Amino acid sequence: MPQLTARRAALLVAIAACLVYAGAVGNGWALDDHPVIERNPAAHSVAAALDAAFSPYWPSEGELSAGLYRPLTVLTPLAGLEKADVVRRGAGLALDLTFSCLAPDERFRHCGACNKCEERRRGFREAGVADPTEYAS
Ligand SMILES: [Zn+2]
Repeated sequence: MPQLTARRAALLVAIAACLVYAGAVGNGWALDDHPVIERNPAAHSVAAALDAAFSPYWPSEGELSAGLYRPLTVLTPLAGLEKADVVRRGAGLALDLTFSCLAPDERFRHCGACNKCEERRRGFREAGVADPTEYAS
């Protein structure tokens, strides 16, 4: 059996990464692909991509128009749902470990007063699921 060297390990990781996305190759551009890849010059040239890969991801002040390119996809499968729908789907899971407060107290408990806490309370109430959250007020 061949020895797993760092070079072979890197090659295996690269192959595995390509295999993960192989099924999406024929799908075309979607959502943020347009500004991040399709219309970004850094994604169409090896030299520009290398420059982007080794430059800071977040632009410093005054460089907001810098071309950003990172092959990163963020999935937000619950983004289009109402809070009550999210709670219903998550019922039975450890929802007490989720956090949504804008102003937690010194013990990192939900404040119970901000608009996110209000949305959270309403989501549990409308879903008919007991709220396991420990609120400060
Ligand atoms: Zn809060």
